[in-house]
Amino acid sequence: MNVCTFSALRRLPISFSACLRLLVWVTLALCSCSRVATPHSKTRTLMDTLVTVTIYDADKSAPGNIDAAFARMKELESLLNVHDPTSELSWLSRQAGKQPVTVSADTFSLLEESLRIGRLTGGAFDPTISPLVSLWKQAAQRKRLPDKRELESASIRVDYRKVILDREAFSVRLLPPVSAIDLGGIAKGYAAEEAARLLLSRGVGSALVEPGGDIFALGTKPGGKPWVVGVQNPFEESDFITRLSVSDAAVVTSGNYRRFFEIEGRRFSHIIDPRTGWPADLVPSVTVIAPHGAEADALATAVSVLGVDAGLELVESLPETECLLVTGDKDSFKLVRSSSFSKYEVPADKRR
Ligand code: AMP
Ligand code: MG
Repeated sequence: MNVCTFSALRRLPISFSACLRLLVWVTLALCSCSRVATPHSKTRTLMDTLVTVTIYDADKSAPGNIDAAFARMKELESLLNVHDPTSELSWLSRQAGKQPVTVSADTFSLLEESLRIGRLTGGAFDPTISPLVSLWKQAAQRKRLPDKRELESASIRVDYRKVILDREAFSVRLLPPVSAIDLGGIAKGYAAEEAARLLLSRGVGSALVEPGGDIFALGTKPGGKPWVVGVQNPFEESDFITRLSVSDAAVVTSGNYRRFFEIEGRRFSHIIDPRTGWPADLVPSVTVIAPHGAEADALATAVSVLGVDAGLELVESLPETECLLVTGDKDSFKLVRSSSFSKYEVPADKRR
């Protein structure tokens, strides 16, 4: 924009008041220019993965807003991290078999949602999966598959129906033989949406929160354009199998290509089928789109356990929920979509 100086204006054949009006107009125009929303992005390691927060924000508070979003996720990590003996979740697990204990609102809400998804999936998603996860971790360390007796003794301690919640008291009771809680299959999706909610409460209406393969898209980009996110090829990290255009929704991918155990030359998924005690290896990658982060995250884990037919049937029964499954192997893989998944896909000719 060309802006004339005050002395140049004096030489123009216009009145002083017109000149003043022009100056006010130019000042206002410059101020409004500086309020145009621009993208700001930061990446940090949190929740055992790389987390990126991108926001469109017009004023100088953008870095502070992003820091606040990270602080909210850090707060959740310190409550929910199963690998941290000082977390609330580890403490809760140590109270297994004892009296009910009161937990924070976050832990309570997430347990409530875990049990809801547990019931919805007939136990394919089970927040008491811990003993089986530990058994497979140990098996990977000692490089030997677990035996039948070990599998049975871990499986018996996995049963989400033995987690008793009391909303009035915000209390949790873990009935025997349940021995521990693991919210690793749902916590990142919850954290992504919570960070987005915090941004919204600070006046940021346009944000993308990405902890690893879990994404929450808040609002749209300026101009009403949806956020575009890629779905990674499970067999080729640098490749995307499709791109999705989303707003106010969660997109979560679960897959055995991200985290796995290697035993006796075989690769096993970190997702365990609670019904058999064995790692779920039916589907290399599952992507779920749903309105909420925790729900999308838990469903992606559950569909990985259920496999193509039962997984699709479940997703088709849920409103505003879609999924994409990658089946087969590196040399011949197939994409299986739920009935309306493709409405989110960016057509190939519109991709940059
Ligand atoms: P995700 O990457 O979201 O699919 O979550 C995988 C993590 O969830 C694992 O690392 C375990 O901590 C936990 N997990 C594994 N199997 C299950 C299951 N069947 N139900 C609930 N959580 C599980
Ligand atoms: Mg999950």
